[in-house]
Amino acid sequence: IIDIQGLGKWFGKHHVLRDVKMQVGSGEKVVIVGPSGSGKSTLIRCINRLEEFQQGDIVVNGHRLSETRNLPLVRREVGMVFQQFNLFPHMSVLDNVTLAPVKLRGLSPAQAQERAMSLLKRVGIAEQAHKFPPQLSGGQQQRVAIARALAMQPQVMLFDEPTSALDPEVVGEVLDVMRGLANEGMTMIVVTHEMGFAREVADRVVFMDQGQLLEDLPPAEFFGAPRLERTQNFLSRVL
Ligand code: ATP
Ligand code: MG
Repeated sequence: IIDIQGLGKWFGKHHVLRDVKMQVGSGEKVVIVGPSGSGKSTLIRCINRLEEFQQGDIVVNGHRLSETRNLPLVRREVGMVFQQFNLFPHMSVLDNVTLAPVKLRGLSPAQAQERAMSLLKRVGIAEQAHKFPPQLSGGQQQRVAIARALAMQPQVMLFDEPTSALDPEVVGEVLDVMRGLANEGMTMIVVTHEMGFAREVADRVVFMDQGQLLEDLPPAEFFGAPRLERTQNFLSRVL
């Protein structure tokens, strides 16, 4: 469903993605790990063109990102969850979740509300629907952000360190929601430092360093017998 073809990206003279190639099939869960600054966020931001790239291409569900007329379509089909939730603080939880489906998918407000309430129920915060994001815990806000992304009925969900900004005691509730999504067959690309999650949920774990994709292995092999010394060094620091 996603085909990253020889992707190259520079920030000015800084070469941050180097000939990245990766395929993700429908229903697959890929976890990306790697040191700070290795290009993980940049890579997943390229997948819904929050970032431009200069080389190669990405095909999402048959749509080439280099063909700009495909952009709105791709943005609808690819949901994204960020480290810092990025909710609209002045809008209620319910309005945060219904905004895009009404504006971009043409749902009636009533339809959007019905869908939003069922998603909020699914992530366990239906009772908070009329509160505002600043009144919620970080874990609750992140679950709203997941519901908001799902409201667009994406084909693929991207997560960029969704639990890194959370207090330790609420990390589990967000990972549980993500695990549920994975079990339902969602295609997911997840940047995370949660190695337990990677081991348990990922079909493949990808290691990035200095803009290169260096390993792409099933979790048992990735954690058990990584091929490269750079991966072993990284794992010895994070495990
Ligand atoms: P972290 O684990 O800290 O989130 P990361 O692997 O997500 O790191 P990126 O944020 O993708 O890394 O950054 C890759 C490189 O690109 C870094 O060297 C970073 O300084 C640089 N970079 C990222 N965003 C920009 C930007 N908007 N302008 C210039 N350089 C940037
Ligand atoms: Mg990052």
